[in-house]
Amino acid sequence: MFNDLAGKRVLITGSTMGIGLATAQAFAALGAKVGINGRRAPENLASLLDGMHAADGEAAFFAADLSSRETCHQLVADFVTRFGGIDVLINNAGGLVGRKPLPEIDDDFFDAVNDLNMRSALACTQAALPYLKTAAQTSGQTSAVISVGSIAGHTGGGPGAALYGAAKAWLHNIHKNWVDYHTADGIRFNIVSPGVVDTAFHADKNEEVRQRISSGIPMGRFGKPEEVAPAFLFFASHACAGYITGQILDVNGGQFMP
Ligand code: NAD
Repeated sequence: MFNDLAGKRVLITGSTMGIGLATAQAFAALGAKVGINGRRAPENLASLLDGMHAADGEAAFFAADLSSRETCHQLVADFVTRFGGIDVLINNAGGLVGRKPLPEIDDDFFDAVNDLNMRSALACTQAALPYLKTAAQTSGQTSAVISVGSIAGHTGGGPGAALYGAAKAWLHNIHKNWVDYHTADGIRFNIVSPGVVDTAFHADKNEEVRQRISSGIPMGRFGKPEEVAPAFLFFASHACAGYITGQILDVNGGQFMP
């Protein structure tokens, strides 16, 4: 059912590693044209791109630090120059930035967390909107915006992660407004909300902490990036999800059930 993703132009923010990279590779394997993005090119960029080309896809890297509105708009413009339009935007760039308990949150930290997790998704979606609309009109299939939420957006986040959790909840919520006002443009808006996924995001945790977290997950372990990627394929595919919008798909091993 994912056959309709061949040739689709898919821009994935923050995709040089982790969930974004696994998702880029999954789209490339289905013959999509994939834009991967990070603040700077990873050392293994050439082999990453070769791998995606060998797997039937087409891939290009776009360097951009997405913490400002201008760079987000530039990223979308660069992707469109390269591929001629956008069918699917995945707002994946995000992260904790750091952990600060309430008394330690200052304006710089507030701005940094919200710029990365909220402003980047808002600005990229804003810039992509006309292209997504055109793509839907010319293809006769819906286009898709998929943002990466989080279990923290449901629960409030762990120690020192209040701003991060709130930013993800903001994303969960703003999609509802976009559904109300942009479905008529042929665009669907859905969220993939991971639980605890084994990426650099958890690099600060030692084995004891990882065991403790795993014991609170019904599946008894962290998820893998490649176990999250298929959720994006599903939402991106018009054949699979053409009548699905405004939804949150939780991929969390049963750790949280809304
Ligand atoms: P990761 O640290 O492995 O990847 C983060 C990606 O974002 C990297 O490709 C990095 O280059 C990019 N990035 C960071 N800052 C950027 C910036 N300013 N501009 C452009 N790119 C930037 O983390 P991940 O776990 O793969 O996270 C991917 C998404 O999933 C994030 O939105 C994260 O909040 C979310 N998430 C992760 C987990 C988890 O447990 N790993 C859980 C819930 C949600």
